Amino acid sequence: MDVKPGAHVQCRWKDGKYYMAEVLQERTDPVRQFYVHYTDFNKRLDCWVDEDQVDLSAVQQPDEGNGMLTRRNKRRREETQQGDQREDLTNPQLAQFEKEHEENTKIRNIDRVVLGHYEIQTWYYSPYLTKFNHIPTLYICQFCLKYMRFGKTYREHIHKCMVRRPPGKLVYRDQVSYGKVKSISVWEVQGSEHKLYCQNMCLLAKLFLDHKTLYYLVAPFKFYVLTEEIGKASHVVGYFSKEIGNCEYNLACILVLPPHQQKGFGRLLIALSYELSKREKRIGTPERPLSDMGRVSYRSYWTDTILELLRRRSNLNFKDITDETGIAKHDVMETLTSLGLAKYWKGQYLMNPVDHKMIEEHFRKKEQRKKKQTIKPVKFKPLKLK
Ligand SMILES: [Zn+2]
Repeated sequence: MDVKPGAHVQCRWKDGKYYMAEVLQERTDPVRQFYVHYTDFNKRLDCWVDEDQVDLSAVQQPDEGNGMLTRRNKRRREETQQGDQREDLTNPQLAQFEKEHEENTKIRNIDRVVLGHYEIQTWYYSPYLTKFNHIPTLYICQFCLKYMRFGKTYREHIHKCMVRRPPGKLVYRDQVSYGKVKSISVWEVQGSEHKLYCQNMCLLAKLFLDHKTLYYLVAPFKFYVLTEEIGKASHVVGYFSKEIGNCEYNLACILVLPPHQQKGFGRLLIALSYELSKREKRIGTPERPLSDMGRVSYRSYWTDTILELLRRRSNLNFKDITDETGIAKHDVMETLTSLGLAKYWKGQYLMNPVDHKMIEEHFRKKEQRKKKQTIKPVKFKPLKLK
């Protein structure tokens, strides 16, 4: 049964009863699931449900071509209004505006950013306010993230700016070695308390991420900002955001700034996101779509974490692996299938016998690659919350 985004269905909730829900998205890999919004429930409860939770015999497909405003579109409109102060748009206007927006976003609007000691070539469009559009260089204070159009303003700013670290509280500090020993820190920043800082972080991140939809509505999110300690100052390296109270996703967006990529910081942030979920006694998965680099980092993190576990423990099933690692079941199944340790058979996933030789070979090759790297990857220690 074909179910289009925007379709209304009866969907089974945890209490066993059926409620009206809107289908926002569908995925089929590794199993067919729908991402639904229960019409009368808070949007925090939106989640992926298995096909068999949905009554497919009574699907109300969306009306075609009347510019129906889906929740996703509503959210996008709210986002855009925050940025551009657009008043209420009618549906055709909205459709037109979104089309223009899509067109505009194909073109990069800023060529490079100056951030502390770095001059960084940007990759994608970012919805900075109109007056910052189509400029060759954007100047950003690496501590408060304020952005400026002119070098002169920037130099004046860095001269008087007293900020030396992200706002919020320190949640993690460690010594790492990549070339030389350095201290790194992670700061937990509440979007609701430090709105401007978080908005500026999102705008900066969008310059390096293709798919990112959140820029201005930062209040429902927490930001975990990774910094490198130089002298008495904390220099921004990357971050991830996490929607507060989301039942499904443990990470909304992740970025390591280009000068700091390939050092293992992405993996450290991913590991941290799972640590935080474990503390909440939750299973987590990142919000999709992942960026290209996000996909690579996650695939590598999942593979190593799961193989590390299979190396130590025998007779584990999918659920055991999920419980031990905090990695969502569909991510476990996908990873194991790609490694040839599971297969799809007659409508379900089955685990193959664990191939210990393959696992040892994986880690041996990994060690070899590490030896060749001049930059030593970051080793992550268990979190000690301050
Ligand atoms: Zn500043």
